Amino acid sequence: MTPAMDHTPASYIDTYYRRTQTSDESYPAAAGPISAEICIVGGGLAGLTAALELMRAGRSVVLLEAQRIAWGASGRNGGFVSAGYATALSAIERRVGRQQADELYRLTLEGVEIVRRNIESLDLADAAPSPGIMRVLRYDGRTALRAERDAQEKRFGRKLRYLDRDETRALLQSPKYHAALVDDDAFHFHPLNYARGLAREITRLGGAVHEGTPVLSCELEGQVKRLRTAQAVIEAEQVLFTTGGYTGALLPPLKRAYLPIATYVLLTEPAPALIREAIRTSAGVGDDRRAGDYYRLVDGGARILWGGRITTRTTEPRDVATLLRREMVTTYPQLAELKVELAWSGLMSYARHLMPQIGQYRPGVWYCTAFGGHGMNTTAIGGTVIAEAILGESDRFKLFAPFGLAWNGGPIGTAAVQLTYWRYQAADFLRERRQ
Ligand SMILES: Cc1cc2nc3c(=O)[nH]c(=O)nc-3n(C[C@H](O)[C@H](O)[C@H](O)COP(=O)(O)OP(=O)(O)OC[C@H]3O[C@@H](n4cnc5c(N)ncnc54)[C@H](O)[C@@H]3O)c2cc1C
Repeated sequence: MTPAMDHTPASYIDTYYRRTQTSDESYPAAAGPISAEICIVGGGLAGLTAALELMRAGRSVVLLEAQRIAWGASGRNGGFVSAGYATALSAIERRVGRQQADELYRLTLEGVEIVRRNIESLDLADAAPSPGIMRVLRYDGRTALRAERDAQEKRFGRKLRYLDRDETRALLQSPKYHAALVDDDAFHFHPLNYARGLAREITRLGGAVHEGTPVLSCELEGQVKRLRTAQAVIEAEQVLFTTGGYTGALLPPLKRAYLPIATYVLLTEPAPALIREAIRTSAGVGDDRRAGDYYRLVDGGARILWGGRITTRTTEPRDVATLLRREMVTTYPQLAELKVELAWSGLMSYARHLMPQIGQYRPGVWYCTAFGGHGMNTTAIGGTVIAEAILGESDRFKLFAPFGLAWNGGPIGTAAVQLTYWRYQAADFLRERRQ
């Protein structure tokens, strides 16, 4: 037996989501010769959404996941599902013009609805959607915030609620905040239970899901593509790569086109009374800094799940937990005694242009990745437009063509990202100091 044949899937890392996971079905590793119309590599939300749409259309799909379903970013994130991409609408517009930017942005609104609809139609109560996301300002930019609310309504028909300083501070008792925009159509949820619900539905519809099955090599040239795993050879006419921040060298142009970026989340101990002295809303909260924090109450308000920070290095989560906790306490001094129970990290995939990479590499070979820190809605629409393309139903994936597989810059690209992040942090700090 070769070492590769020994692969046992890594269990889920210890997160709030794993601790509150409601089901534990597992899927067997792929074995023997397998053939399917479509083979999907990567069992995060991009791959799962594409697989589900293809199964709903009656196609034959095999989905291969190296570890467990949603073991990567999709099963350990902040759980915020809201419109937009990892980069600002203005940056997209500069690149592709107003009309295409609007079309791309509307896709992200659709992404939010896809997740909501799946939760409802599959009756995924354990995905626990909770409405409302607040974006809070840590500096006095109230005029710009109101202008943004108006522009969003005019351009996309979105109804965002503006909260002035007193209204904001009544909900979030922090001296840091000046105003907020509330999106009542956005929500936060339990991403791991959601992802596992999608996998269940894929298999119920007759799709094959395999965990503990890293794809080790592939031949993608011919009409029939061949993928090799430790114990199986899979033949398929179409192959889709949805390997996110865990992308290896299977498709070298894909590996060269992204940077894995680590980010972090902590979970506090249960302390509902103390937490209520600080946070009095069930909405998720994200601040306006370019490298800001986001948080929400979980367990019925008993705990805080707080996320933030990015790094291009592999930092021990313990250190980052200390930094994140410091951030929480500077925002809410009344939480000085609140202890951290757990902290974890995950890898996001970022392209240099900060937009998703969605497209066709060669006939029958597709990719759908690089959703950055905004993947809960964008994986839903990304997986959907790729499924539509494979089904011949639409060519909406071409809207992403201007954001191709640009080279990530190698080690220099990594250093540039870290430097940009530090520059953002410094700029955010100075902007707040000027108040
Ligand atoms: C800590 C954290 C917090 C975040 N918070 C939010 C948030 O609140 N809201 C939001 O919108 N986004 C958030 N994000 C981003 C979001 O989670 C990601 O953009 C999204 O989950 C990416 O999904 P994916 O399917 O592309 O990749 P992943 O979920 O990472 O899935 C990729 C999968 O591919 C598998 N794989 C890789 N190589 C192979 C191979 N050779 N063979 C088989 N399988 C393979 C991996 O094991 C992995 O499971 C956060 C991310 C992190 C890490």
